[in-house]
Amino acid sequence: MTGENRPLLVRNPATEEVIAEVSGTSPKEVDAAVARASAAQRGWAALAPGERAGLLRAFAERVDAAVEELAELEVREAGHTRGNARWEAGNFRDLLLYAAGGAERLTGSQIPVAGGVDLTFQEPYGVVGVIAPWNFPMPIAGWGSAPALAAGNAVLLKPAETTPLTALRLAELGLAAGLPEGLFQVLPGEGPVTGRALVDHPEVRKLVFTGSTRVGRELGARCGELVKPLTLELGGKSPNLVFADADLDRAADPMSFLDNAGQDCCARTRILVQREVHDEFLERLSARVAQVRVADPGRDERAEMGPLISAAQRDRVRALVGPDPRVAARGSVPEGPGYWYPPTVLAPADPGAPVCTEEIFGPVAVVLPFRDEEEGLRLANATRYGLSGSLWTRDVGRALRLARGVAAGALSVNSHSSVRYWTPFGGYRESGIGRELGPDALRAFTQTKNVFISEE
Ligand code: NAD
Repeated sequence: MTGENRPLLVRNPATEEVIAEVSGTSPKEVDAAVARASAAQRGWAALAPGERAGLLRAFAERVDAAVEELAELEVREAGHTRGNARWEAGNFRDLLLYAAGGAERLTGSQIPVAGGVDLTFQEPYGVVGVIAPWNFPMPIAGWGSAPALAAGNAVLLKPAETTPLTALRLAELGLAAGLPEGLFQVLPGEGPVTGRALVDHPEVRKLVFTGSTRVGRELGARCGELVKPLTLELGGKSPNLVFADADLDRAADPMSFLDNAGQDCCARTRILVQREVHDEFLERLSARVAQVRVADPGRDERAEMGPLISAAQRDRVRALVGPDPRVAARGSVPEGPGYWYPPTVLAPADPGAPVCTEEIFGPVAVVLPFRDEEEGLRLANATRYGLSGSLWTRDVGRALRLARGVAAGALSVNSHSSVRYWTPFGGYRESGIGRELGPDALRAFTQTKNVFISEE
């Protein structure tokens, strides 16, 4: 482990200015937080589901009243556009409201048996650890926390090093809404220190991790040793498969990979286009990429894309793109400070090149041609990831065949959207284990207990 309690310097990525200094949580402080969470959880789980739901709705109301304040924090600490930041705060509210309804509907079953009655109960784990990334700090914190709380657990949320501010504010809003002290705590700190202490703690009975496949693999191995259940939401390299009969204008939406400056695990960064429309598609996409407004979202309400989260992330993007890429189109970035990287479309000759196979997590897409359905599907699946993807065709039969054929957990046909709080989300292959969101979200935070009661 590296040093304990090292303060985190939070920077505005558009200006590089330090906007806050936040203390890291030491392993000892994690122990104390777990003890408080365990104590709070017992009372929370004993509440009637309707009471738990009521408190979560009160929490949602507080978040709703604070949308502008939370969005402002997100703009400043993550460089997100204001529209996105507002949506993100609203998403946390919606996750709470959706989960609140789930608390009231979390039923067990009664299974016919001879000589008695057999019942199942959906019981909470106890304390749940949620380790969140920096790319969508509020929504992803909510994906784990809201259903975990609704199912009767306490939650310890560790935000990413670069984006602790919205999480800290959300915890205050929860307390103000009447959540029991200790039930929902935010523990800022470094991954290998605070995050690792959460993973290792025996009283943290279930974990949710969203972030890189590298760290996810490491935590998966550790949770295997500890026999601790774990949900993993990891990287992606999602295809955007465009056939000649598609609505090319909609398929060539540059925000499909530039939203959030490409720091999106669902970003459609592998654009596969049928040969006969390849050139036309590339032309349309390139023209639009050049027009995307890249600016400091704190100063320009009309910014469509902000900076990358950090200098380290920009270095990663630069390294993956390499010194001599085959650039088909490039946008512009503001002059001066900020972790800027221009919107970029590459047209590499080799589909096996790292830009075509590795998650770049920046505003960079590749465009590759394919001949027919068979080759398109083969290229779409030529990745170790399997999170998301778009399929563009007017042929219903082909859309269905491809939707079943592409190995990914969240696909869209003739659309680029893939995440709604009320539909399931998660990865195939190395993109993850387990599902979040949707009608079954609460079940992932419960254990099934079976009880047989004899008539004797
Ligand atoms: P990361 O995986 O290192 O960090 C994600 C979270 O895990 C953070 O809260 C971090 O503090 C924590 N963490 C890191 N090491 C840990 C450890 N040993 N034990 C416990 N917790 C730990 O992600 P990153 O370094 O910020 O980003 C690197 C790459 O990860 C990006 O370039 C991108 O490819 C990918 N990424 C993917 C997503 C996603 O949504 N799938 C999100 C963020 C990053």
